[in-house]
Amino acid sequence: MKKCALVTGGSRGIGRAVAVALAADLGLHVIINYASNDDAANETKRLIEEKGGTAELLKFQVQDHAEVEAKLSTWLKNNPESKVHVLVNNAGITRDNLMVFMEESDFDDVVQTSLKGMYNVTRHLLQHFVRNRSGRVINMASLSGLKGVPGQVNYSAAKGGMIAATKALAQEVAKRKITVNAVAPGFITSDMTEDLNEDELKKLVPMNRFGQVQEVADLVSFLASDKAAYITGEVININGGLYS
Ligand code: NAP
Repeated sequence: MKKCALVTGGSRGIGRAVAVALAADLGLHVIINYASNDDAANETKRLIEEKGGTAELLKFQVQDHAEVEAKLSTWLKNNPESKVHVLVNNAGITRDNLMVFMEESDFDDVVQTSLKGMYNVTRHLLQHFVRNRSGRVINMASLSGLKGVPGQVNYSAAKGGMIAATKALAQEVAKRKITVNAVAPGFITSDMTEDLNEDELKKLVPMNRFGQVQEVADLVSFLASDKAAYITGEVININGGLYS
């Protein structure tokens, strides 16, 4: 039985680091989901293979319920000897603006990608986890979902929703040995934060620096491991002391 991890948004940034860590640390075969960037997704696969791991690409839009159903059911049918043990709901986007200027599409797109995407993918894999009586669901939330960040009403709502859903689902499936946790990063260096003024913003962080994708990946890797079997329904901050 091949043990696998599905990482949504695994082509770049935090998702790429998570995909590489899950293969290297836990020996999982990684299914790399992404939206459009084929080259970046192939680079994640190459990085995993370079370290002796295995991976494959599975391109779909997490917010598209029908596409998620079609892609995941086909994958499960074609891989009867595989067991998806870990799901990292990491795909996410930002469309920042003050609420007074925020277009409906900017609200919808952000909520649909993070929150609805989490529902779509998790909903489909849940029966598989229940049948296997094992599973790790790790949701990539954000400090915004705990604190609320001005200019990010859409993103704060999406991530806050993920946090509440994490706590609810954890209680539904705990008996089946499935854990559900959220990770809430602060400022992490990636494409998502490349337009921010790092020199100014890092002054807000007690550790006086942005976090690295590897640091988030190490936390996810721990939550996905057997060592974290009794941790569920938690939201773990990783923000250099910025907020807790
Ligand atoms: P990133 O560098 O912008 O990467 C985003 C990833 O998500 C890419 O792999 C992208 O795929 C994928 N993606 C976007 N929309 C998608 C969709 N509709 N369906 C499937 N995949 C999709 O972002 P990041 O900084 O690594 O952030 C990863 C997660 O951490 C996000 O949920 C973000 O909200 C959260 N987070 C980030 C920070 C931070 O400071 N960076 C802080 C807190 C939380 P393509 O390559 O195909 O576009």
